[in-house]
Amino acid sequence: MRRDLMDILACPLCKGELTLTATAESEGEVLEGTLGCAACGEQYPISDGIPNLLPPDLRREMEAEAARSGGGNG
Ligand SMILES: [Zn+2]
Repeated sequence: MRRDLMDILACPLCKGELTLTATAESEGEVLEGTLGCAACGEQYPISDGIPNLLPPDLRREMEAEAARSGGGNG
């Protein structure tokens, strides 16, 4: 994701401002990192340049779904 996206992104839970922590960046794009909400303390992962802004409940559901459909760990 581009850093400008921070202008329009907000916490899906409380609409609070998100703080970007980038762990991998390339040519102005954040590839890996975390978006943290200072207001409610929730954290959203950025993976492969895509911010995952699903509310934590939904995220856990999707992860459980993925685990059920197989694929293995590793
Ligand atoms: Zn929040």
